[in-house]
Amino acid sequence: MTAYKIHEHKYDMVVVGAGGAGLRATFGLAQKGLKTACISKVFPTRSHTVAAQGGISAALGNMGEDDWRFHFYDTIKGSDWLGDQDAIEYMCREAIPAIIELEHYGVPFSRTEDGRIYQRPFGGMTTHYGKGTAQRTCAAADRTGHAILHTLYQQSLAHSAEFYIEYFALDLIMDEEGVCRGVLALDMASGELHLFRAHGTVLATGGYGRAYFSATSAHTCTGDGGGMALRAGLPLQDMEFVQFHPTGIYGAGCLITEGVRGEGGYLTNSKGERFMERYAPNAKDLASRDVVSRAMTIEIREGRGVGEHADHIHLNLMHLGPEVIHERLPGIAETARIFAGVDVTKEPIPVLPTVHYNMGGLQTNYHGEVVTLKDGDPDTVVPGLYAIGEAACVSVHGANRLGSNSLLDLVVFGRAVANRCAETIRPGAPHKTLPASACDKALANLDRVRHANGGTPTAELRLRMQRVMQEHAAVFRTGETLIAGVKKIREVHAGFADVKVSDRSLIWNSDLIETLELQNLLGQAVATMVSAENRKESRGAHAREDYTERDDVNWHKHTLCWVDEKGDTRIDYRPVHMYTLSKDVEPVPPKARTY
Ligand SMILES: Cc1cc2nc3c(=O)[nH]c(=O)nc-3n(C[C@H](O)[C@H](O)[C@H](O)COP(=O)(O)OP(=O)(O)OC[C@H]3O[C@@H](n4cnc5c(N)ncnc54)[C@H](O)[C@@H]3O)c2cc1C
Repeated sequence: MTAYKIHEHKYDMVVVGAGGAGLRATFGLAQKGLKTACISKVFPTRSHTVAAQGGISAALGNMGEDDWRFHFYDTIKGSDWLGDQDAIEYMCREAIPAIIELEHYGVPFSRTEDGRIYQRPFGGMTTHYGKGTAQRTCAAADRTGHAILHTLYQQSLAHSAEFYIEYFALDLIMDEEGVCRGVLALDMASGELHLFRAHGTVLATGGYGRAYFSATSAHTCTGDGGGMALRAGLPLQDMEFVQFHPTGIYGAGCLITEGVRGEGGYLTNSKGERFMERYAPNAKDLASRDVVSRAMTIEIREGRGVGEHADHIHLNLMHLGPEVIHERLPGIAETARIFAGVDVTKEPIPVLPTVHYNMGGLQTNYHGEVVTLKDGDPDTVVPGLYAIGEAACVSVHGANRLGSNSLLDLVVFGRAVANRCAETIRPGAPHKTLPASACDKALANLDRVRHANGGTPTAELRLRMQRVMQEHAAVFRTGETLIAGVKKIREVHAGFADVKVSDRSLIWNSDLIETLELQNLLGQAVATMVSAENRKESRGAHAREDYTERDDVNWHKHTLCWVDEKGDTRIDYRPVHMYTLSKDVEPVPPKARTY
C-alpha cells in the first residue's frame, strides 16, 4: 500500500456536509461551546439545499387555523404509516420554535399583509385530520432553500465553526469496539489527507438521487455518507422508498416546485382534462406526491399524455396572472423559460415524474444518533456517530415524504444533534489514542480506487447503473422487473472491479472523485433494488403491480439492508415505532389512505 502522510486534527465534533442539515448542526454545536469542524466537498452555499424552492412546513397558523397535531397526523398518513410516530411527534412539535429561530437568525421569509411569515398550501397538508386545507408551508418566494442556507452559513461563521471546504470525506474511522472516532478526508486542492478526530461525527451528506438517470438533485447528490456507512458494516434503512416528484421539467429533469400547485396551478392531459379530480377527489392536484406521480404515469400509459410522443403532462399556471407569478414564483418562471423554453404566463409547462428524494438512509433515533440492529435490539446506538438530513432515515417520512417536510427535517434534527451533544459531550475532553493502523482500511480503499486500471471508464459504468435504476426501480414496479433489476444491478456493482481511473494524482482529480462517488452510489443502488424486490406489498412510493395493496399484517415494518464490498446483501426488518413521546397526542393506527 502507498505510504500516505496524514495531517491530524482534533475537534469535539466533526460534521460532514454543509447543506441545511450540516450547517444547522455545525452552528448549533459551535453555539453550545463544542469545538466543531465542518467538511464539505462543495462550497457550503452550493449544497443541494440551495435549490429547494417551495418551502418549509410548521403549524404556525399565520394564514388560518392550524395545530401541530394536524401536521403530525398528515405526516403519518403521508408516510403511509411507515414513519416512526415518536420522531414525527418530535418534528412537528419542534417545527414551530425551529422556524421562529430561523426567522430570528435572519431568514428573509415572504410576509403577509400584517407582517407575519407567509404560508402556502402544499400536498397532503390538511387541517382537522384531512377535512380542510392547511396553509402550513413557510416560504421565501420560491427560493426558500437559498435563503435558509445562506442564513445558516452566516450563523456558522458568526459562531466560529471551522470550515474545511472542498475536502472530500473518504471513510469513517471506526475502532474495534464499533465506536466512530472521526473521519478521513482528502483536501482536493492540495491532494493531502486529513484525519479529523472527534467525539462525535455527524453525517449530513444528503441523498443519492444520482443513482438514477433523471433526477432533480444536484450532481453532487451521490450518497457518500451512505457509502461510508455500508463500508463500516452498518445497514441502510427503507431504501426501496424513492420519491418521484410529479413535476420535473420534461427532458431536463429540473424541478418545478409543488408550490406552483399550492398557488393554484393544475395538471392536464392531452384532452385538456384536470385528471387529478378523478384520482383524488378531495385534494386533487395537492394529493401527496406518490399519488400524483402514479396518476400521471397511468394517464400517459393509457394514451392521454401530451406532446408528439404522448409521453408527458402539462402543468398550467397561466390563469394565476403575471402578478402572482412574479411575486410568488419568479424562479419558476425563469427555470421554465430556460429549460423548457416556455413563457409560463402564456403556455403550460411540460412535466414528468422525476426522481427527487430518498426516504431511506442511515437509521437514527430522534436525537440524530445512528442506531443499528445488534443482539436482537434494533435501536442500539452506534457510539460517536450521528446522521441528519436526507442522508438519514429517522424515520419521519416513512414510505413517502410530504413536500416541505424535508427542509423541516434538516433544521429540526440538525438542532436535535446539537442539543444532544451539548448534553453528552464535554468540550475539550481528551481523545483516546488510536492505533497506528486506524486508517488502514480507509487508505486501502482509496488505493484500490486510485489505482483501478480496468477497461471500463467511470462514466460508462455510472450510466449503466443509472439506466438500470431508472428502468427497474421506477414509479410502478413488478416482481418480474425487480428480479431482473436485482440481477442487472449486481452485475453493474461487480463491474466496479473493472473500472478505470485514468489519472493517479490526488490533486484536483475529478476522475478519482467521481469514481469514489460512483462506488458510494453503487452500494445504495443495490440496497434500493434488493429492498424493493423483497417488499411484497404497495406502500407510499413503493407501488407494485403484483401486490397492489398495502399489507399491514406482513409488511408494517422497516427494511434494513447491508451491502458488503462484493455487493452481497443481507436483509432484516425492525418494527415501526407506534408510540408517542408525550400524552399530548395519541399514536395513529393504520387506516386506508385516500386524498
Ligand atoms: C430541486 C429540489 C428542490 C427541493 N425543494 C424542497 C422544498 O421546497 N422543501 C423541502 O422541504 N424540501 C425540498 N427538497 C428536498 C430538500 O431540499 C433536500 O432533501 C435537502 O436540502 C437535503 O439537505 P441535506 O442537508 O441533507 O443535504 P445537501 O443539501 O444535499 O448537502 C449535502 C452536503 O454534504 C456534502 N458532502 C456530501 N458528500 C461529501 C463528502 N464525501 N465529503 C465532504 N462533503 C460531502 C456536500 O458538499 C453538501 O454540503 C428539494 C430538493 C431538490 C433537489
